[in-house]
Amino acid sequence: MENIITISFDDIDSQYGGCTTHFTGIFLHEIKDKIKLIDYPLLVRLNPGIPWKTRGNASTALRFIYDDPKEIFEIAKNLVDEYTNPRPPSPNKKPGIVITQGKVWEDENFKNFYKKALSDVVLLDETINILEKNKVLYYGGKGLIGATAAQGSLGLYEPYTFELIFYRLPDNWNKDRCVRDDLVLKIEKSLPACSINNYDYIKEKTSVKPNGPDPILSGFRGSCEELLWKYESSLCETPHFALLFRSNQHTSYGLFNDVHPYPYRNVEIEGYVSNIKILPKGHVIVSLNTKYGMFDISFYKDTGPLNEAAKLLVNGDYIKVQGSVRPYFYNSNPTISAYSMEVIYVNQYEKEFSPRCPICGSRMKSLGHNKGYRCEKCGFESKYINKLKIRIDRRLLPGIYMPETGELMHLQKEKYIQLPILSSLNYVNINKIFKVYANP
Ligand code: ATP
Repeated sequence: MENIITISFDDIDSQYGGCTTHFTGIFLHEIKDKIKLIDYPLLVRLNPGIPWKTRGNASTALRFIYDDPKEIFEIAKNLVDEYTNPRPPSPNKKPGIVITQGKVWEDENFKNFYKKALSDVVLLDETINILEKNKVLYYGGKGLIGATAAQGSLGLYEPYTFELIFYRLPDNWNKDRCVRDDLVLKIEKSLPACSINNYDYIKEKTSVKPNGPDPILSGFRGSCEELLWKYESSLCETPHFALLFRSNQHTSYGLFNDVHPYPYRNVEIEGYVSNIKILPKGHVIVSLNTKYGMFDISFYKDTGPLNEAAKLLVNGDYIKVQGSVRPYFYNSNPTISAYSMEVIYVNQYEKEFSPRCPICGSRMKSLGHNKGYRCEKCGFESKYINKLKIRIDRRLLPGIYMPETGELMHLQKEKYIQLPILSSLNYVNINKIFKVYANP
């Protein structure tokens, strides 16, 4: 393919509303008649542990064929200014736009940058360095980190999912969202196993609606692109437009690594349980003895089945945890907030009790080490009676424990769903991924 351009965005939102994915739809609408898309619009989630994110740490990218990157760059800059002027970002946020040419998703520098932004902290200086070194067009501030990461994301042979996002008419931005829970459930049940995190079976409601004044009405996720459009009939509010994204959401791909757990990193870490504490609100704190030292793993109450499984752990169990390292301490150990846990070894242990008297059945009392037992009730005593050892039944089974579907975090893989991969990029028909419902 000739003249491939990838344009990526981040931080095109503020505390007053707006959203990078919404902006991407508006931008695509602006250039759609000039370009030929060679991939779906990309929705790229990055490190969920970054404290300066607004919501889900998302950036976006468009891959297409066009001759003139500078023209596209000018359109993008003007549109970003127009979009953000009525809603100025807070001082620590600044939009980022990056434009590259060629198959950037195969470039090791950008691929590695993406991997780091997914699982670790990246500095703005590092970002500017890679942009300067590769002589690409860029504009903006802190949003450049996410925008640069999006360039190296979602290459060939990487698992992916889709999200179909419906956006609201501007007049509705501050009103309640109208999506029918019962219809979402009904549609979900009619689909093959490809719907991801769209319904919370514990709270018995959909999990597709965000909160707050942003322009998203609902986002439906899954591994089946065309079937996701069926969810359209669960909307009881006329959307403005809808856009189908390809995404790294719910793949867990490259997210957790076996690296030293520094704050804000996402890690996979294993070790022996050495202490368990259940806090009054139901959160569980497990001290884990690992090759990197002792860590406190927090299993928050809202992780449902994961939190329940953590309550059943005992000292000596061996577990593997995937989670985000937090910059705080419960005891004197650093904390890792758990997203999932694999129970590898369940410790089989015995408890010791005083034996019962063979004459009257009462509990006996020890006469000292190796001296036998005496019954206080009937007076029987014998030095040949030993302690009673009873094996404790464990209710915890080896296996993987995660939050309930509907409560998964953005990047977390659904246990049972097979994910697709692409072996080549193909032209994408814009009418299949972009639908306008009403003019504002
Ligand atoms: P929205 O969904 O509206 O875009 P958000 O939750 O995605 O909101 P952003 O506004 O994108 O939040 O803010 C995230 C900020 O963090 C961006 O400036 C992005 O460049 C930056 N960022 C993303 N990943 C990393 C990382 N790994 N290290 C450092 N900064 C990062």
